[in-house]
Amino acid sequence: MKISVDYLRCEGHGLCVEQAPAVFGLDDDAELINRFEGTDVPGEYVTVARAAVDSCPVAALREQS
Ligand code: SF4
Repeated sequence: MKISVDYLRCEGHGLCVEQAPAVFGLDDDAELINRFEGTDVPGEYVTVARAAVDSCPVAALREQS
């Protein structure tokens, strides 16, 4: 699975980072980093990546097949 980020929606509070720090990070300007932008999330991180998608309060994260 891949995860797309709607950067216009993201408010940078980092709930997804707390859920899945191996998948997401925040840079020095509190901009979200998707460590697997455009590529498949490794299998060992899929469960936490889905939890991160569900945790986003503004629905900025979307799972793609
Ligand atoms: S939880 Fe949503 S709004 Fe918050 S940093 Fe992650 S993508 Fe952005």
